Amino acid sequence: MAETPILKASLPLTLDPQKVFRQRLQVNGQLPVASLKRLGESLLDEDGTVSASLLFEVDMERRLRIRGSASAEVNVTCQRCLQPMKLQLEDKIDLVLVSTDAQSKALPVNLDPWFCGEDEMLSPADIIEEQLILAMPIVSMHIRCIDVNSAQDETVKNQIESETARKNPFAVLAGLRSRSD
Ligand SMILES: [Zn+2]
Repeated sequence: MAETPILKASLPLTLDPQKVFRQRLQVNGQLPVASLKRLGESLLDEDGTVSASLLFEVDMERRLRIRGSASAEVNVTCQRCLQPMKLQLEDKIDLVLVSTDAQSKALPVNLDPWFCGEDEMLSPADIIEEQLILAMPIVSMHIRCIDVNSAQDETVKNQIESETARKNPFAVLAGLRSRSD
């Protein structure tokens, strides 16, 4: 049965871009996975809560930066056994607010734009949803369902391992040590 998530603090629905960067505003909070409909299309159900934090600041180059992180545990279907599985989604957020294509094209390649028209309001939920969609793996599979003899599964295994390495480099190091013992 789906439990109603208890929200520690809800994120504001909209923020005024004219104010938040000047104020160097930081927002922390949670929102139900159920409220993110586009992300929901890739999930098994609407269970789960997203925890996120966003900081709005003007950087050294006078760019309007949105930095933070978002994480959620969601339910998806394993693409091998078709049984439910839990998936931990996590992403760092580092975006630059732009209002035109020209501004977007002028950004260095390591920075991603976030479009917001001159008179538009910012929606923290939209930013977080987009980042979590980007964090979704191409293929979701239980580790036990990976067939080590299949070339296709090798790709999934590498994907899981590189994800683990990115999130926790020490775990991989420990794994290497125990393997050499
Ligand atoms: Zn499976």
